[in-house]
Amino acid sequence: MQTGVHSFMVDNMKTAAAKPAPTPVKIAGVKKIVAVASGKGGVGKSTVATNLAAACQMSGLRTGLLDADIYGPSLTKILGITQKPQLTEDKKLIPVMAHDLQTMSIALIMGEERAMLWRGPMVMGAVRQMLFDVAWDNLDVLFIDLPPGTGDAQLTLIQSAIVDGAVIVSTPQDLALIDARRGLEMFRRMNVPILGIIENMSVFTCSGCGSEFEIFGAGGAKDEAEKIGVPFLGALPLDPDIRAASDAGHVYMNSHAESRAALLYREIAEKLIETILS
Ligand code: ADP
Repeated sequence: MQTGVHSFMVDNMKTAAAKPAPTPVKIAGVKKIVAVASGKGGVGKSTVATNLAAACQMSGLRTGLLDADIYGPSLTKILGITQKPQLTEDKKLIPVMAHDLQTMSIALIMGEERAMLWRGPMVMGAVRQMLFDVAWDNLDVLFIDLPPGTGDAQLTLIQSAIVDGAVIVSTPQDLALIDARRGLEMFRRMNVPILGIIENMSVFTCSGCGSEFEIFGAGGAKDEAEKIGVPFLGALPLDPDIRAASDAGHVYMNSHAESRAALLYREIAEKLIETILS
C-alpha cells in the first residue's frame, strides 16, 4: 500500500521535473551546501559524507545530510533509520533526526520501490523535491551525498541550488582517480568551488603486528590534487571498524570518537568549515 509521502513524491516528481532549468538559488533553511561526489561507486563516498557531517555537528554546527544517491541510497543503512518522514501542513517533508543530524533520503520515501531504472525527468524531479520540498530547520551546513559519476542528479543539483563547494572522494588507485577527474571537471565548468580531494581507504594498519599495508596503493589522490591544483584534504585509513560501524547503523565518528580516523575526519571538517563559513 502506498503511503502519503510516497504518493506525494510520485505525484509531484513529474511536475517538478517539467520546470525549466532554473537559476541556482539558496535552499530555504540552509546556510551552506557541500556536495560529496565520487567518480565511481564503492569508494566510501556515503561513509565519508556521513562522518564529515557528524564531525561538523560535533563542532557545534547545525548539520544536515541529504542522500541524493538516487540509484543506490545507502544513508538509511549507515544511519540505521527506517521511519518515513512526516509532512508539514504546507506539504513539506520533515527531516528525520538521526544521530543529531537532520536527514532525508529517497529510500525513506520510496521504500522498497527501486529507483534503479529511473531516467532523466524522474531523477531530476526527485532531486529537486528533496532540495526544495524538505523543511530543513535552520541548518548551518547541509552535506549532499551524490550518486557516483556525472549524471542527471549532479546537474540538477548544480543548476537548481547554490552549492558552496564540492568534495571529491577517491581511493588511491588510478582507476578511481580517472573517474574522479571527470567529476572535478564538471564542478569546475559549473563554477562550483572544489573544496578538495579526500583519499579514502588509504593505508591499512594491522591491529596484530602494527605493519602498514597499502591495499589500494597510497598517495594517488594527493599527487593528483597537487597536479591539478586543488586542496588535498587528507588520507583516511582503510579500517575494518569503519565498515563495521556502517553495517551496524552506527556513525563511526560517534562510536570511535578518539580513533585516528575520527581525528582525521575532524581535521578535514575543520578545514571545510573554515573555507565555507569564514
Ligand atoms: P560509496 O558511497 O562510494 O558507494 P560506501 O560509503 O557505501 O561507498 O562504502 C562502501 C563500503 O566500504 C561500505 O561497506 C563501507 O562501510 C566501506 N568503507 C568506506 N570507507 C571505509 C574505510 N575507510 N575503511 C573501511 N571500510 C570503508
